[in-house]
Amino acid sequence: MSTYVAARQLLPSATIERLLTGVRASAAETRATVSPLDGAPLARIPQSTDADLDAAFAAARSAQPAWAALGPATRGRLLLAFHDLLLAHQAELADIIVAETGKARRDAVEEIFHVAMTARYHGVHAACVLRSERRPGLFPLLTRVDVHHHPKGVVAVISPWNYPLTMAFSDGLAALAAGNAVVAKPDAQTMLSALAGLELLRRAGVPADAWQVVAGPGSKLGPALIDRADHVCFTGSTATGRSVGERAGHNLIAASLELGGKNPMIVCADAELGAAVDGAVRGCFANAGQLCVSFERIYVARAVYADFRDSFVAATLALDLSVGLDWTPDVGTLASESQLKKVAAAADDARSRGATVLAGGRARPDLAPWSYEPTILEGVTEEMACFREETFGPVVALYPFDDEDAAVAAANDSAYGLNASVWSTDHRRARALAARLRVGTVNVNEAIGATFASLAAPMGGRGQSGLGRRQGPEGILRFTETQSVATQRGLGLGTPPGMAKEQFAAVMTRGLRLLRVVRR
Ligand code: NAD
Repeated sequence: MSTYVAARQLLPSATIERLLTGVRASAAETRATVSPLDGAPLARIPQSTDADLDAAFAAARSAQPAWAALGPATRGRLLLAFHDLLLAHQAELADIIVAETGKARRDAVEEIFHVAMTARYHGVHAACVLRSERRPGLFPLLTRVDVHHHPKGVVAVISPWNYPLTMAFSDGLAALAAGNAVVAKPDAQTMLSALAGLELLRRAGVPADAWQVVAGPGSKLGPALIDRADHVCFTGSTATGRSVGERAGHNLIAASLELGGKNPMIVCADAELGAAVDGAVRGCFANAGQLCVSFERIYVARAVYADFRDSFVAATLALDLSVGLDWTPDVGTLASESQLKKVAAAADDARSRGATVLAGGRARPDLAPWSYEPTILEGVTEEMACFREETFGPVVALYPFDDEDAAVAAANDSAYGLNASVWSTDHRRARALAARLRVGTVNVNEAIGATFASLAAPMGGRGQSGLGRRQGPEGILRFTETQSVATQRGLGLGTPPGMAKEQFAAVMTRGLRLLRVVRR
């Protein structure tokens, strides 16, 4: 008999049934999901048909003008109500997230905090970001230019399973704040988390039709969503992101693409080693390494390499690897059998080609069906898959470096460009080094959270890590169409009556020279 935690018994049936009513699905077809806590069925998710997608978009389109007309301040108040509900219901939400993903409760609660902080940021700041503004016109005093930010309409949000609440909501909240409606397709495995968030969003006062949720396989629903949406916001793998971008390009709609990473951490010789080790543990093994911004490469100055390595290995071996709804686990299980296969293959490939396993390197089916130990490798070389490819799991390789130029070159030697971390007691030098890294975000003396939780700061990838930025004003404005309205007073732009064209050109030339001097 299995000794696994029986996930199905952790969530009341009535809760699951209630949450499932949030899916727009009219047919009888369902698809079973499985909990990583025990590998047993958790819920049967109703599947959306093409007709359901049509209905979801029709409802969203008809709700959107009224939602936009509420104005950013009123919308902001509703987002702040959502913030309060998330914090008030964090225990139930965390139970659902843990049951669906197998992650440690601490990781689940951090997700809830992140969504709450995102709701607060947009609730407080969107009105200011969206305010119409005056810009200089062609002729001083005579040409008035007003710039407006109109919502795009209906935004499709396609999200992955690894952070099922954060990824389902953080982009969509920005779209809502900008006056759009949303049709969301969460990952098939983690529908309950997204539906639990939806329930709170509706309770906060966001009209039901303004945020629709559909369910089904991404390969079928994804293209159908892109064909109906005014903007697609996708978070997931680089391979799928490329096909999403192609289809969006064909339809001439914008795509926000938050994709994979192979993120480097750099530990300089003058780093505070205790803090760097603590940061490495969190940065590599939070969410069992299934985090787009987590570190899979650590470059350490040779002078402190041995000290860092030994402390990092000791801290990693001390982590509690387990599963359950309580606060005991430091690291939970991987989320699926396919994740386990991918992670084990990366570690086995490195080991078989000569890498040294300093910690971990083993599946732990005694704890949960797809559990895998936090793993530290040394001696990883170019021909090993994990040198360049994203593992998306708890596997990190250590590399010594001799000078910081070499560390920067190694860190930048990647097709990805999502996140990085630099550790040094010389903050100015660390920031200068950060500026040389070809990534969207850099944390100095912190692993991940300093940028990820600074909601006013844009976040996103370069290269194969994606297109566009979430968070900050950039994260809101991407969901708007910018419109310029220029009002011309008095002097028209044609040749004044009675003036020869040549004379007009001479007057214009003098005017342009004058504008050049006053630097307008
Ligand atoms: P995935 O690309 O397989 O799936 C992501 C989502 O896309 C799911 O909802 C899926 O159903 C849907 N999908 C599948 N096929 C589709 C298609 N043809 N068209 C449209 N949608 C489709 O990714 P995954 O394996 O679930 O997630 C892990 C990946 O996501 C990793 O590479 C990770 O780095 C990345 N990720 C990136 C970020 C970020 O912010 N940059 C955040 C989390 C995860």
